[in-house]
Amino acid sequence: MNSATPVVLVVEDEPEIATQIVRRLEAEGWTAHSVGDGLAGVEAATTLRPDLVVLDVMLPGIDGLEVCRRIQAQGAADGRSAPPVLMLTARDDETDLLVGLGVGADDYMTKPFSMRELLARLKVLLRRVERARTSVQTGDGEPPLVLGDLTIDRAARRVFRGTAEAHLTPTEFDLLVCLAATPRTVLSRERLLADVWDWADASGTRTVDSHIKALRRKLGSELIRTVHGVGYALEPVS
Ligand code: CA
Repeated sequence: MNSATPVVLVVEDEPEIATQIVRRLEAEGWTAHSVGDGLAGVEAATTLRPDLVVLDVMLPGIDGLEVCRRIQAQGAADGRSAPPVLMLTARDDETDLLVGLGVGADDYMTKPFSMRELLARLKVLLRRVERARTSVQTGDGEPPLVLGDLTIDRAARRVFRGTAEAHLTPTEFDLLVCLAATPRTVLSRERLLADVWDWADASGTRTVDSHIKALRRKLGSELIRTVHGVGYALEPVS
């Protein structure tokens, strides 16, 4: 964390929703900043270095998709991992579209949503960030996982295909480590959802698909095999 208090950036152009979210987070003792358009969102992500970002898709100026891309590009350029992004959409089919594009948001919620649910999802993302920082600080002492030409340095949370480094979000990294723990073994989307996202219900399987898509884009599509109707398996390539 920047300090003991989590810092959340809220990018939302509907003042009522933005205010509701900020109030709820502040009631939790968190620090929340809100901005009302996409460019201000990108700028605030750079200056504030928030721990988490809540990002509306439909925004004036540049849309949430582009904001998400720029935040991640900025993180990669600075050699640090970008903050997890929870994206707010207006409709379920909009979520489907975003998942299909593999924009790399860490989670999605469709409006209207309950503040309680939003907070629960943000806490999951926050635990991931905390875990990532702790393991980097302590070194964890875990040796790198080497599977064919894929090297996963769990202590530094860095991933290489050959000598080329891939910049993964914290969620993508955890998903890859989960798949890599049992290579060539099919893991169901429900199982991945439970292990990586701590979700007991299967309502978020699209989130898994979205992250698999992002991993394939960053690491090469042949590395992860889809078993239709079942799940995914990591297939090391030498
Ligand atoms: Ca909007």
